[in-house]
Amino acid sequence: MLWNKVLRASARCGVRLQSSGAAAASVKTSTDHSAANGFSFEFTDQQREFQQLARKFAREEIVPQAADYDKSGEYPMPIIKKAWELGLMNSHIAEDYGGMGLSIFDSCLITEELAYGCTGVQTAIEANSLGQMPVIIGGNEEQKKKYLGRMTEEPLMCAYCVTEPGAGSDVAGVKTRAVKKGDEYVVNGQKMWITNGGKANWYFLLARTDPDPKCPTNKAFTGFILDADTPGVQPGRKELNMGQRCSDTRGITFEDVRIPKENVLIGEGAGFKIAMGAFDKTRPPVAAGATGLAQRALDEATTYALERKTFGRAIAEHQAVAFILAEMAMKVELARMAYQRSAWEVDRGRRNTYYASIAKAFAGDIANQVASDAVQIFGGNGFNSDYPVEKLMRDAKIYQIYEGTAQIQRMIISREHLAKAKK
Ligand SMILES: Cc1cc2nc3c(=O)[nH]c(=O)nc-3n(C[C@H](O)[C@H](O)[C@H](O)COP(=O)(O)OP(=O)(O)OC[C@H]3O[C@@H](n4cnc5c(N)ncnc54)[C@H](O)[C@@H]3O)c2cc1C
Repeated sequence: MLWNKVLRASARCGVRLQSSGAAAASVKTSTDHSAANGFSFEFTDQQREFQQLARKFAREEIVPQAADYDKSGEYPMPIIKKAWELGLMNSHIAEDYGGMGLSIFDSCLITEELAYGCTGVQTAIEANSLGQMPVIIGGNEEQKKKYLGRMTEEPLMCAYCVTEPGAGSDVAGVKTRAVKKGDEYVVNGQKMWITNGGKANWYFLLARTDPDPKCPTNKAFTGFILDADTPGVQPGRKELNMGQRCSDTRGITFEDVRIPKENVLIGEGAGFKIAMGAFDKTRPPVAAGATGLAQRALDEATTYALERKTFGRAIAEHQAVAFILAEMAMKVELARMAYQRSAWEVDRGRRNTYYASIAKAFAGDIANQVASDAVQIFGGNGFNSDYPVEKLMRDAKIYQIYEGTAQIQRMIISREHLAKAKK
């Protein structure tokens, strides 16, 4: 609790880099180097403080427990509670609703550090941001007070329910139906791969409200906030995934679930835009998570390469190994710059879709390459679960799949790129 107070106090008196455009554009204080100089790699004192706190927390509270959580698959609620107490989650919720109102950039700095500790824990925490983002961008005052407010009062989880067994990349293929009956909507359907699916207090739910197949996608779907204890909401079993095993992933069935019309975000038909719009603010942190994993793989491999000897010298002294480390370092640095650029853009109120997809695609790919290189440097030990790098390799894969696959990111980047070229 003490650190939470320190962090909050620091957030209040320091720079406030709002995520809303107009406010953010006017940011300028003595410690805000980026605003003062136009371009700067220097963090503010406050940003360094966030980073240091998250780093200390990850090294002391997450790293020592990560392997056990990976083996047991148990949900890391004790770690999440501590992170909540320290103010290391829900940090982007506005002060009006009890949060710290941190920028996406500042939240990303925290995310990278948590991911260094364990990306299973980080994904569980990050799924809260994903679930909350549609409410942050589309919620009215009452909805924000009710659903964001409660997240800052106690350590609760939420989830983003969009993917279905038959619709992942092709979100327009969502089949879950919401039918208006009086002052309520009745929902029937099925979602799949929902992070925090069995732990959430409430869900953001995307459902089709216009059954006409000719209805344009940007009018056919509606976004709802749904209390998880509503009758008819049935989370399935926890899925046994390749990596990030302590994160809770489930299918959820909705059977005659009644949602009051007050829980519609913006209005009927606005759901697709809200669901997709959230990604501009959530892909930078996903990229930050992948960067944190890659940094961990680089650090583990470097330490090992300096200790392990073959042919009378440390393997780091064999040029072939040193060059692998150099390649890994290049990738980590560039992934970090990509996520920071994409976060910085959206914090200034600019459309960052292009940068967010570049960051997400690049960081997702290099996390996999760097984790695989770390396993290589560990040799036989790398293939064994007594050492940390095989977990990193398993954990990395999901960064090329969730929040838009590696292929979907390339579709977005090429679309944005070509649109600019055709102007
Ligand atoms: C652990 C985990 C957690 C998740 N958490 C959530 C969550 O919290 N909320 C949520 O809503 N969803 C979540 N997802 C779902 C995730 O976002 C989807 O799995 C992802 O978007 C891909 O969809 P899909 O699995 O249906 O694959 P598909 O869409 O069937 O794609 C299969 C393959 O085809 C490729 N492909 C598809 N279309 C094209 C195209 N047009 N051009 C080129 N290639 C293409 C894909 O890139 C992929 O390689 C999660 C998934 C996992 C595994």
